[in-house]
Amino acid sequence: MSLVGVFGGTFDPVHCGHLRTVLELKTALGLDEVLVIPCGQPPHRPPPVASANARLQMLAAALADLDGMRVDARELSRDGPSYTVDTLDSLKKESPGATLCLLLGSDAFAGLESWHRWQDLSALCHIVVARRPGITRAVPAGLQALVSAAEGTSEVLRQQSAGRIVFCETSQLDVSSSHLRAQAAAGLSLRWLVPENVERLIEEYGWYRPKT
Ligand code: ATP
Repeated sequence: MSLVGVFGGTFDPVHCGHLRTVLELKTALGLDEVLVIPCGQPPHRPPPVASANARLQMLAAALADLDGMRVDARELSRDGPSYTVDTLDSLKKESPGATLCLLLGSDAFAGLESWHRWQDLSALCHIVVARRPGITRAVPAGLQALVSAAEGTSEVLRQQSAGRIVFCETSQLDVSSSHLRAQAAAGLSLRWLVPENVERLIEEYGWYRPKT
């Protein structure tokens, strides 16, 4: 039985906070593979600044030398809002034997109740929450009952096929795409906050930079 991490996001742009978190989760949980899934049309936020193609290019560059991690572009080719439940549904249909672990930062987990069909997620996947700088461990009131019933340690991920919640401590890197977009728009350097090849792409194409 393979344990597959599913890490979704806008990745506008992908940054070292995403990459370090997902790398540490992969090692700590013994994931066989991680699928990094850029969102096509985010249901809960304004459309991305960079095009789907630009975000895909940056992700491909960022993951190029990382074993066991690959970009999955299924949300970019789907019409309508990119609902995670639909993505997990299609992954499960493709690989019924795989155990899916949805990897989330704590800010994303805190907003889970606003997600489309969020109550259906526990039949499709486990949820793994990585602490995000500045976001406290406090679980929103509406998720308390779910967490009390489902929380476990990483061992449960291989013992059951879905429905458990695991909280993980990962390195705290206080980087966000919105901060990076603001830095780039102000003409400031993104060095060490994004991988070198992502920085080169942003430079080359002028993404996020002020229009001249
Ligand atoms: P923005 O600033 O545009 O909202 P973001 O930096 O939060 O973007 P997303 O692509 O929206 O990035 O996030 C994708 C996933 O990565 C989410 O689950 C989010 O919680 C997580 N994440 C983003 N940045 C970090 C970080 N620095 N540390 C841990 N998790 C992170």
